[in-house]
Amino acid sequence: MVQSSILGFPRMGANRELKKATEAYWGGKLSQADLLTEAKRLRLEHWNIQKKAGVDVIPSNDFALYDQVLTHIQDFGAAPPRYTTQNLDPIDEYFAMGRGHQKGGVDVPSLEMVKWFDSNYHYVKPTLQDNQTFKLSANPKAVVEFIEAKEAGIITRPVLVGPVSFLALGKPDRDQTVSPIDLLDKLLPVYEELLTKLKAAGAETVQIDEPTLVFDLPAKTKAAFKPTYEKLAALGDKIPKIVFATYFGDIVHNIDALPTDVYAVHVDLVRNPEQLDTVIGALGPKTILSAGVVDGRNIWKNNLKRSIEIIEKAVQKLGKDRVIVATSSSLLHTPHTLASEKKLDPEIADWFSFAVEKASEVAVIAKAVTEGPAAVRAELEANAKSIQARATSKRTNDPKVKERQSKITPEFYNRKSEFPIRIAQQQKSLGLPLFPTTTIGSFPQTKEIRIQRNKFTKGEITAAEYEKFIEKEIQEVVKVQEELDLDVYVHGEPERNDMVQYFGERLDGYAFTTHAWVQSYGSRCVRPPIIVGDISRPAPMTVKESKYAVSISKKPMKGMLTGPITCLRWSFPRDDVHQSVQAEQLALALRDEVIDLEAAGVFVIQVDEPALREGLPLRSGKEREAYLDWAVKSFRLSVAGVQDSTQIHSHFCYSEFQDFFHAIAALDADVLSIENSKSDAKLLKVFVDEAYPRHIGPGVYDIHSPRVPSEQEIKDRIEEMLAYLKPEQLWIDPDCGLKTRQWAETKAALTNMVNAAKFYRQKY
Ligand code: GLN
Ligand code: ZN
Repeated sequence: MVQSSILGFPRMGANRELKKATEAYWGGKLSQADLLTEAKRLRLEHWNIQKKAGVDVIPSNDFALYDQVLTHIQDFGAAPPRYTTQNLDPIDEYFAMGRGHQKGGVDVPSLEMVKWFDSNYHYVKPTLQDNQTFKLSANPKAVVEFIEAKEAGIITRPVLVGPVSFLALGKPDRDQTVSPIDLLDKLLPVYEELLTKLKAAGAETVQIDEPTLVFDLPAKTKAAFKPTYEKLAALGDKIPKIVFATYFGDIVHNIDALPTDVYAVHVDLVRNPEQLDTVIGALGPKTILSAGVVDGRNIWKNNLKRSIEIIEKAVQKLGKDRVIVATSSSLLHTPHTLASEKKLDPEIADWFSFAVEKASEVAVIAKAVTEGPAAVRAELEANAKSIQARATSKRTNDPKVKERQSKITPEFYNRKSEFPIRIAQQQKSLGLPLFPTTTIGSFPQTKEIRIQRNKFTKGEITAAEYEKFIEKEIQEVVKVQEELDLDVYVHGEPERNDMVQYFGERLDGYAFTTHAWVQSYGSRCVRPPIIVGDISRPAPMTVKESKYAVSISKKPMKGMLTGPITCLRWSFPRDDVHQSVQAEQLALALRDEVIDLEAAGVFVIQVDEPALREGLPLRSGKEREAYLDWAVKSFRLSVAGVQDSTQIHSHFCYSEFQDFFHAIAALDADVLSIENSKSDAKLLKVFVDEAYPRHIGPGVYDIHSPRVPSEQEIKDRIEEMLAYLKPEQLWIDPDCGLKTRQWAETKAALTNMVNAAKFYRQKY
């Protein structure tokens, strides 16, 4: 029979119970015992959901109080010494690595956290020593949770991060030089010990995640897979049977590195359905294919007919006992359940499927293939109806939008003149000094702002009252900027809850949820809006506030928009049209907004694209170039409609552009503001090497901390920057928006920043 399986389930709970419990524990309001009890309750609940849905293979150890990679760091004895020597209890040591610890005389920062592949989830980076040793913890979590499920009557398949990926995703600790993959021989015995314990506890199979096989890998890492899994295979019955799992990409380019002596291989057939034949051809003679056909990264209802076709194709080649129906990846990246969404339009709600619903989908697909479609006729009929309804719905298709897209011509992407002509005109009309100062957009989002916004959402104050309140906030922000003597003002974004949701709510083609939270890192969750149909702008979105701000300002006021790629990446995108099409629609909507802003007297306009880099396909080459091509085009499409004298800014929250500098240059933005205070000024070298002609504002201080940088520190920073950038190119600004800061520190830091800029203005 064809089995169904899930690679991992979201941990937070239907109402983010895990978030609430961990934060209460951190805040001293919940005991450790109560935290662990709550975590246990959630695990049990999630296993039962999957069991009830009819899933055959249910994962365990997919749960984590903070992050699954961090769990391994601790369970393998790979915590750096600065944590293990603090005498912290294991749970506190674990959280110390995840989020830092500053209590009871202990003061350690967290380990580095980075994005998990191209998702919005962040993992804690294994941080390794030159003399690293590994040791299995006395109570490995994988074993504890397997037994926990077994006692509840559920035999699970434990999930482990694989040894090669664990190391490949790691890095040497500061001042260390070890190449993590060289530690494999030391690490493998610990896996052997853990696997032996799992088998002894009763685990028949284990899922070992090796998603790094989808990358372009250094030769040494690539060569590590086969021997590693041969060694494990040599242990025979002493360990559970291994499901070797890859996801978020195809493995065709690394197919010669795929181990053949594992029990099963999992591949992501949502992202890369075309890899099916190659993978089947590379399987060992008895190896099972775990076919990931239900999307673990999105919220759309599965097209069951299409999935069944894929599975049947695999069954034809391998037989029913050698195919498992699976989610494409862990469901960690999807919200918990659609059942919580009481406010969604029922027409649209019928198109979605969150983790609980996806559990039923894998079960239905497996049953359809095992017993024949008649066994699940009702489910298949309802699914076909829903897929058809979505494809033909007016909510999805807007002929006017498509018509407009078809009329885009090459001129749409180009400013009227080249940069030298533009900047000369901008200098003339804006009259900015050397080293102009500005900020990135938001000013402190105070408690008062949140209270008023809430009141307005609940209908406790009228639109007119709320508008008055926002105007008052803008007045204050303008006054502060006057006092600080900044050169280009912003209105402060008091009306915006979130930089994507705010625009989504004003565009046609978006839907919003109330409970669809997805873990971003630790206890932090995000609730992305959903792009459901063709996007258009029914009315101006930001003009009113910007126009008002202009009317009360003596200096240039910068309009503030979120760019097309960031709107796309921080939403759940559609899966029925290519992302480039969605980006183009967003770009057209923003283009109208940019032109309207200009008409309203806003002659400096910033279009933020912090998400541009995270959308980069995981592998370099054709796919990455294609992405950059449409990403750059959509940015240009959104801004190119203005006059030469209007100055276009863009903003990025990082400064590592080495990999794709040509794309950053191709944006043709007049001014770029970027993060730089936490990274090395040396990163600016690329702007010199590539003879970047336009203006740049590398952030001169870190906005993530309440710390106020001194004027001297900022001067030192500017001095470093001047080693790379010409004085007439350099803008002075903070790293990012100030919304998470308090007013006092904001004013103090900006005062020092403006003084530092003035110092250099005198000097040059
Ligand atoms: N304009 C936005 C702000 O200042 C930019 C935020 C961001 O880059 N993440 O808040
Ligand atoms: Zn930023």
